[in-house]
Amino acid sequence: MSYTGKILLSMFLGISFGSLINIFFFDNFFAILLSEILSALGEIFISSLKLMVVPLVFFSLIVGVAQIENSSKLGSISIKAVCLYLATTSIAIASALFFASLFDIGSGIGLSTDLEFSAPSAPSLKEVFVSIFPSNPIRSMAEGEMLQIIVFSLLIGFGVKALSNKNEKIISFFQSGNNLMLKIVEIIIWFAPYGIFCLLSDIFSKIGFSIITDLASYFVLLVLVLLFHGFIIYSFFLYFFTRLSPLIFFKNLKEVIFFAFSTSSSSATMPLTLKTAKDKLGVDQSVASFTIPLGATINMDGTAIMQGVATVFIAQAYGIDLAMSDFLLVILTATLASIGTAGVPGVGLIMLAMVLQQVGLPVEGIALIIGVDRLLDMLRTSVNVCGDSMIACIISSSENSLKQEIYYGRS
Ligand code: ASP
Repeated sequence: MSYTGKILLSMFLGISFGSLINIFFFDNFFAILLSEILSALGEIFISSLKLMVVPLVFFSLIVGVAQIENSSKLGSISIKAVCLYLATTSIAIASALFFASLFDIGSGIGLSTDLEFSAPSAPSLKEVFVSIFPSNPIRSMAEGEMLQIIVFSLLIGFGVKALSNKNEKIISFFQSGNNLMLKIVEIIIWFAPYGIFCLLSDIFSKIGFSIITDLASYFVLLVLVLLFHGFIIYSFFLYFFTRLSPLIFFKNLKEVIFFAFSTSSSSATMPLTLKTAKDKLGVDQSVASFTIPLGATINMDGTAIMQGVATVFIAQAYGIDLAMSDFLLVILTATLASIGTAGVPGVGLIMLAMVLQQVGLPVEGIALIIGVDRLLDMLRTSVNVCGDSMIACIISSSENSLKQEIYYGRS
């Protein structure tokens, strides 16, 4: 059986097994014990993936920068990346706000509130900007501050590039480090079908499908907008900028999509996204090593869509009208909140609290949607990683470094 076949089978078995426990053996002592064991094994799998994130980004970015012939190229890559991330995220929130308003999904619930809730406030633009620059690289790494790690690795990369004429060994040291990290990622990924089975059976043993019926309109609309953005908008972007086949792109990306779905974490999926971008999507090392970690941190279109739909849903449920200025505020806050927030399960809800607070909506409205959020997190994380990979392809193609033959069946 092919590797993808194994992953699909483990997803199917995990979902079925978990749902079976949820429906028939929810109170059974042995079922609870089994679900604890599965949960522990799933957590070990996610931890092993996360373990690789910092060293992989560090080595791969240094090698990427050292390989760039002209340093100003990095400037153009970053400007393109940030502009594309902002453009796709704004489109994502705008279409979420549009569809949610159009279909009026929350009205009729008829809630009222006079309670004051506190949510973490959204960071200011200055805070976001200053926090990108590390003062202590070890602390940045220990705390997994991705943007700070990127800045530090870029600096080292430039240093290595400047020294490499005089000292060949320095570059080969980092190249060997990068190869070593990729090898370890390969070994961990070999265990993925087992890890995925554990993760999914654990989640579905705790949640079950019945919860969806209570929030069917919210759930279905969100799923449709996510699919629309993930397939239609991304295909359009990819074809418009590169003229390459979106079908081959998605076909080659499928394992990353399944991974993101099963782990609900773009950070944990990142080692595989990076490897796939280089090996199967034809993205050049220097572009991939920079744009993929950056995207996994600041580009979360799926999350932005959830925030747009949820904001309108909660406003309608409480009978509060949102003005055009509120919509703009939602777009701005959601985009700012997503910068620097690591892609881990459930982080979208914390960002949603900031957004609700900013537009003066009751934060306790989150309780309405929290039940289905874990399931939706899986799909929106898949959209998040598709966005990162698609933008990496566009940038590599604009730099004339994309291996196009992959898309013409000559890889
Ligand atoms: N789980 C998402 C991710 O890792 C973030 C979120 O929407 O909660 O990309």
